[in-house]
Amino acid sequence: MAEVQTFLGPVPVEELGFTLPHEHLFVGHPELDLNYPHPEWDERAAVERAVRALTRLRGLGVRTLVDLTVPGLGRNVARVAEVARRVPVHLVAATGWYTADVLPAFFHTHGPGLLVGGPDPLEAYFVGDVEDGIAGTGVRAAVLKVVTDRPGITADVGRVLTAAAAAHRRTGVPIMTHTNAPSRNGREQQAFLARLGVAPERVVIGHCGDSEDLGYLRELMDNGSTIGMDRFGMAHVLPDERRVAVVLELLRLGYADRMVLSHDAAVFSRVTPPSWRARHTPDWHFENLSRRILPRLAAGGATPEDLHRMTVVNPARVLAPA
Ligand SMILES: [Zn+2]
Repeated sequence: MAEVQTFLGPVPVEELGFTLPHEHLFVGHPELDLNYPHPEWDERAAVERAVRALTRLRGLGVRTLVDLTVPGLGRNVARVAEVARRVPVHLVAATGWYTADVLPAFFHTHGPGLLVGGPDPLEAYFVGDVEDGIAGTGVRAAVLKVVTDRPGITADVGRVLTAAAAAHRRTGVPIMTHTNAPSRNGREQQAFLARLGVAPERVVIGHCGDSEDLGYLRELMDNGSTIGMDRFGMAHVLPDERRVAVVLELLRLGYADRMVLSHDAAVFSRVTPPSWRARHTPDWHFENLSRRILPRLAAGGATPEDLHRMTVVNPARVLAPA
């Protein structure tokens, strides 16, 4: 029976249940935090807030949440593990690197043909996180996360994608991505990864919910990938009514088995801190799907079977290691 690694060890795939596949607990910047602490960041308070939020979430039926916070976003696995031990939902860890354009200087001296040389450290980091655990915690990553934004596949972004593809081929864990929907660059990502031997079926193209271009979204799914309708509540990018309309139209076109639903929300993010979110995006939190979006999808014609596929069956299929 296939198992998925979580912060507390392996869980059988059929026990994952209702899964939010693209979320964040704590998004920070360790160097900024060390030198210029953010007035709203209080680690102890944030941990307690996460415990309360995830406990409430279980009451709404959610069983599993994937924390796609990788290095570049301030990943701190020990902090999340502390939360995982206290909440009744499975938390899943990710590896990868979050950059829209360039990697830190370390990576410009380490790797084939570079000053210090040696093999590319990224691939060893990703594989180690999946096979041995992250930073001595024993927490094993079950997902690879990569990013393409407006700059496209720059040299360093290409390096991250290449290392993730190699780690995927070796470990079988899926790849989940960040895209910039206006540039429709999920296509470029899908093709780049496919050339490196990653089957599109093993990739979730993220942030597709930011797009209303049905031709673009259908192309990604027709090529085999699952798409992430994963930013419900991010009203500053696209209001929920329009996100719901796109999902309903794609359901009518027969794509229930190719979409997953999530929020890309966070308990704390230094990028858009809690006071900003409270003012501008009041529905951008882990409960938005359960409380507002699933009922609206049902009212718009989504069947219980459609909702079950998008929230339970599809995430489990993708998360099961190949
Ligand atoms: Zn994200």
